[in-house]
Amino acid sequence: MKNRILEKLNEFTYFIWLILLILVAVFVTYFYDLNKKSQIYYLQKAFGNTYLNKSINSLTSKLMPRYLTINYKIQKGDTYENIIDSIDIPNAEKKTFLENVKRVKEAKSLKVNQKIFFKIDRKDKVKIIEFQIEIDKKRDVIFERDKDIAKFNSKIIEKNLTKVIIFKEGIIENSLYNSALNLGIKPNTIIEFARLYGFQVDFQRDIWKGDSFQIMFEQFENENGSVIESGEIIYSNLNTRGNDLSLYKFEFGKKEMDYFDENGKSMKKTLMKTPVNGARLSSSFGKRKHPILGYTKMHLGTDFAAPTGTPIMASGDGVVIRAQWCGGGGNCVKIKHNSVYQTVYAHMSKFGRGIKKGVRVKQGQIIGYVGSTGLSTGPHLHYEVIENGKKINSQKLKLPSGKTLKGKLRKEFEVNKIKIDVLKSELIAKLN
Ligand SMILES: [Zn+2]
Repeated sequence: MKNRILEKLNEFTYFIWLILLILVAVFVTYFYDLNKKSQIYYLQKAFGNTYLNKSINSLTSKLMPRYLTINYKIQKGDTYENIIDSIDIPNAEKKTFLENVKRVKEAKSLKVNQKIFFKIDRKDKVKIIEFQIEIDKKRDVIFERDKDIAKFNSKIIEKNLTKVIIFKEGIIENSLYNSALNLGIKPNTIIEFARLYGFQVDFQRDIWKGDSFQIMFEQFENENGSVIESGEIIYSNLNTRGNDLSLYKFEFGKKEMDYFDENGKSMKKTLMKTPVNGARLSSSFGKRKHPILGYTKMHLGTDFAAPTGTPIMASGDGVVIRAQWCGGGGNCVKIKHNSVYQTVYAHMSKFGRGIKKGVRVKQGQIIGYVGSTGLSTGPHLHYEVIENGKKINSQKLKLPSGKTLKGKLRKEFEVNKIKIDVLKSELIAKLN
């Protein structure tokens, strides 16, 4: 009897196992499904949570802000066409901009240093919603988009800034930069002053303690008398060991502007002797014992000692062909000026804004700041001038001198010079 039951069970064994297997499979699928449903439910609940929604929104909007604002300062040779082409917007928008900007006669032509501002809405269809152009230091023209159509309404607004002409004079104690700063002259103006003399002046040999300077410049103030912007230098003089070197601002021809000495001669040269102001020449070109490596080798550049962070200027117009770490030279910049000249600036603490390979720079533009990176014993600028592939002494550079005004332009310049001298005397009289 017992045996028969076992036999019967044996016959069913496969069948029982099969049933069990099916049951297990059904349970597994069921629980998996249940679990998935609850996961989806929790996920939905979480998405319904406003706090999370808000943070997801802010996260995505941080990645791609809806409004893009662009501030740009006009450079020499800029046109509305090339400015709008550099902005990533649909072609139809570029066309709309060009059509609208030409409707306002005050905005028709562009001047160097003029400011332009764009506000772009990137939601759905990318479009410009507002742009603003500086007409002069006192007025802006604002273009606001008419709802969803390709037309802008323009209006001119007064900035309410007053132009004031300031005269300052001082004696150089430690450096031109610090002495000028102590007189309350803004860094922008000091840098411009140094740039004007950067062609002529070797700060080591030519500037002595007790030398003096005079400077007359524009300043723009608001109703409260706070200085909002510094304007252009109108006149400057640098007296070194009893010798005066005066420079007069002169506007001529079609929107041209330059500085000339009292004989109507331009100071402008292809390259500057000293691309950093307030510096002390600490090691000149030639054979010397290397301060770190210890052995004697040719020093193929000029060193200018200056405090860390002192701005370094491009010594001439050109294209940046290197702006990176270069070993012993630390952070360095190399500029190609033309087929003959290249310049190198080494040991920088940091690069100037926007300075990278391929970028065009203007003479006097800040390309970096003095530092002590790479093989260096202290903050200084190592400056090299390369002429036809060969490193030469920057302090002995013989560059063609600037042009001298002649004829009608010279007459205009003389009148302009007298006006400036009169203005200067008035300002000096007021001081006393
Ligand atoms: Zn050096």
